[in-house]
Amino acid sequence: MGAIVAIVGRPNVGKSTFFNRLIQRREAIVDATSGVTRDRHYGKSDWNGKEFSIIDTGGYVLGSDDVFEKEIDKQVELAIAEADAIIFMVDVNTGVTGMDEDVAKLLRRVNKPVYLAINKVDNAMRQEDAVEFYALGLGEYYTLSSINGSGTGELLDALVKDLPQVEEEQTELPRFAVVGRPNAGKSSFINALIGEDRYIVTDIAGTTRDSIDTKYNRFGFEFNLVDTAGIRRKAKVKEDLEFYSVMRSVRAIEHCDVCLLLLDATRGFDGQVENIFWLAQRNHKGIVILVNKWDLVEDKETNTIKQYTERIKQAISPFVDVPILFVSVLTKQRIFKAIETAVDVHKNRSKKIITRKFNDVMLPLIEAYPPPAYKGKYVKIKFCTQLPTPYPQFAFFCNLPQYVKEPYKRYLENKIREEFDFTGVPITVFMRKK
Ligand code: GDP
Ligand code: GDP
Repeated sequence: MGAIVAIVGRPNVGKSTFFNRLIQRREAIVDATSGVTRDRHYGKSDWNGKEFSIIDTGGYVLGSDDVFEKEIDKQVELAIAEADAIIFMVDVNTGVTGMDEDVAKLLRRVNKPVYLAINKVDNAMRQEDAVEFYALGLGEYYTLSSINGSGTGELLDALVKDLPQVEEEQTELPRFAVVGRPNAGKSSFINALIGEDRYIVTDIAGTTRDSIDTKYNRFGFEFNLVDTAGIRRKAKVKEDLEFYSVMRSVRAIEHCDVCLLLLDATRGFDGQVENIFWLAQRNHKGIVILVNKWDLVEDKETNTIKQYTERIKQAISPFVDVPILFVSVLTKQRIFKAIETAVDVHKNRSKKIITRKFNDVMLPLIEAYPPPAYKGKYVKIKFCTQLPTPYPQFAFFCNLPQYVKEPYKRYLENKIREEFDFTGVPITVFMRKK
């Protein structure tokens, strides 16, 4: 479970340039495998081995210049409420602007770490110009150049030093999060589940401010619903802000074991839904896809579900071993099945395969189809084991781990999935030297 860092600031200071620098490498890998380029404003990053989620709030500002200001204030307030740390970015070229002062005013009241990042300090001469930003009353600042990368290391060193790092704890009860775009039916779904108070065991105040989990007992299942407060509170947010929804989703994903990814059948599995899917995958969370509002789909021939499923699988390839259910919160169709499936996925995610059994199954499969020779050298895999992590990761020990490429790792993953049930769970395959 990692922390959430938000980048705020007015347009054109370089937020997205900085953001892309942080997530570039990892996201590029995901993009390459699915063949989709995504305009993405949140992702996972790490520095010195510490992982955190990062959100570029600027990615959600739409509209003309005069709308900007109000929007930005709103986003800064949400970022303050939801994030664990805030990077406030300004532009050395323009100096302090009125909009910077407005944002600083909001940030001075915050008792979370705030890092003032003065961007576009591309060379030493610019350092002196940065001094004027002391006027923002935020104290110490970091100068950097998002374009050439200088100074970014110092900022990130300071950032991760202060970030709370909580290893994912193994809780007794599975933690489910309901995530998705605005209007997918998340609150209706939660209400359908917890509407009847007698099933709620307790509301557990989370470690983070405002996060309320609901301990829940129904259909013979016990689980915690993560962040029910956020979803219930949504009703009070006037507009259905995509940004708000994303913030809550990022938060909920960090804190759960299994994500119930809800989408509106009439809108389809679009880019935003896909982004949430990949974030859950990157966080090693279990995933169940629920195509909601199935009652609104009129032409329900036998093929409709099949075609719909195919389309989703194309979007989430190569991680297609994910349950996809067609539900209606309105008519309560397959709601029970959804929870049952989430419970199964949680079991898969907690599964531990005994090393001896794992070797007995995998080594013959490896022998039958060994890694291809690379530069005339033969890779010999000697043994393998599941690692003792809260989610499934596997290590294969061999003489030349660096010669085992992605396609072969994919082969291993596919065989693991065929032989042991890991439906709904991202798994990682490592090659190790032995
Ligand atoms: P955002 O609106 O805050 O996300 O800003 P962008 O990341 O889109 O950047 C706005 C402009 O500033 C773009 O033309 C960037 O190429 C440029 N820019 C971003 N970072 C730097 C930097 O460190 N130095 C210079 N010289 N230009 C930068
Ligand atoms: P949220 O923004 O994801 O929390 O979505 P809401 O739960 O507020 O639902 C958005 C709208 O979709 C509301 O008008 C709901 O009544 C409606 N809705 C939710 N689930 C269903 C469903 O299964 N079928 C139909 N027809 N409407 C639904």
